[in-house]
Amino acid sequence: MSATVSTAAAAGTAALPATMQALVKATAGPGLELREVPVPGIGINDVLIRVRVTGICGTDLHIESWDPWAARTIRPPLVVGHEFVGEIVAVGSNVTDFHPGETVSGEGHVVCGRCRHCLAGRRHLCAHTIGLGVGRDGAFAEYVALPMTNIWHHWPGVDPEVAAIFDPFGNAVHTALAFPVLGEDVLVSGAGPIGLMATAVVRHAGARHIVVSEPNPYRRDLAMRMGATVAVDPRERDLAEVGVELGMVEGYDVALEMSGMAAALRAAIAAMAHGGGIAILGIPTAEIPIDVNDIVFKMLTLRGIYGREMYETWYKMTVMLQSGLDIRPAITHRFDFRDHAAAFAAAASGDSGKVIMRWD
Ligand code: NAD
Ligand code: ZN
Repeated sequence: MSATVSTAAAAGTAALPATMQALVKATAGPGLELREVPVPGIGINDVLIRVRVTGICGTDLHIESWDPWAARTIRPPLVVGHEFVGEIVAVGSNVTDFHPGETVSGEGHVVCGRCRHCLAGRRHLCAHTIGLGVGRDGAFAEYVALPMTNIWHHWPGVDPEVAAIFDPFGNAVHTALAFPVLGEDVLVSGAGPIGLMATAVVRHAGARHIVVSEPNPYRRDLAMRMGATVAVDPRERDLAEVGVELGMVEGYDVALEMSGMAAALRAAIAAMAHGGGIAILGIPTAEIPIDVNDIVFKMLTLRGIYGREMYETWYKMTVMLQSGLDIRPAITHRFDFRDHAAAFAAAASGDSGKVIMRWD
């Protein structure tokens, strides 16, 4: 929780307090604490934002519960959280494109700016990414600071709850549009918040049949509201048989792996049509053995997806919302930040879509 240049040195800081409320991973172990911490300082290229609305991500749950990934990755003390919308309150002296009062979200991957991919404009491929609320202080706080290259301007009148979840919405869009879906039959494995949003995106983008595979009945219901043709329990239904019932010619053309589960990836590979594409967003907790013969003889393309394209995905999110895409049914729970324990419990329960915490 260090500063480069004091916030008071930046433009527009007259009324800023010295400290703020923030949700902090204080020590190496389970739990989070609401603490009074210094308002982050900003450097000459940074933007300081008053946080209004945030979303809870699976990553936050891993950090809260202190699972093996968190224990390997997180160095407390750390302000957690990366899904947010807020209002700019101060900008560094080099910042000319952003101004106090504007409504913005932040791209949660802070890239190096110097590697081959960054210099070529392929910033999502940067191998030196630092995660907001993972490798640097995050957005579950009254204020958050980010480089200006990580700021996304919203249009006036944007729904603040939708704006708050542009980060996972971007995961959904990046994955959903990894392969052409117009007229295609699509399998979505896993109807967590991201699979739910991806369902709405592929529907908006013109897919024919969308089969959502999800063991949790609460989430299957939500998937139907997001535009699924049918939502099935993979423990009870064979995905290829579902495809036959829907009149698919050969199998699924595109699959979006959004569960991180070995069984789901294997079932997807088995149910694909020749030449199909599988976009893999889900993060498995262990290695997944697969028969490469299936990939070779079906001539499948498997593509890993991490984060969002900066900023083509953000552009696509914006224009799809402006042209009628509605992801709001994926938001199911709302809490004040002081009720963070209840908010985290709702997110961890599985009987939820996206869980929102308000900071205003
Ligand atoms: P989530 O855990 O809320 O959703 C996963 C869903 O998969 C759950 O609803 C679960 O019931 C379901 N599931 C379990 N077993 C299944 C099976 N055999 N078949 C089908 N579904 C099954 O997660 P989320 O927040 O929606 O994120 C989706 C995935 O993407 C997670 O694995 C997450 O870690 C990952 N993720 C990746 C990135 C990235 O940049 N690659 C970013 C964010 C999240
Ligand atoms: Zn880089």
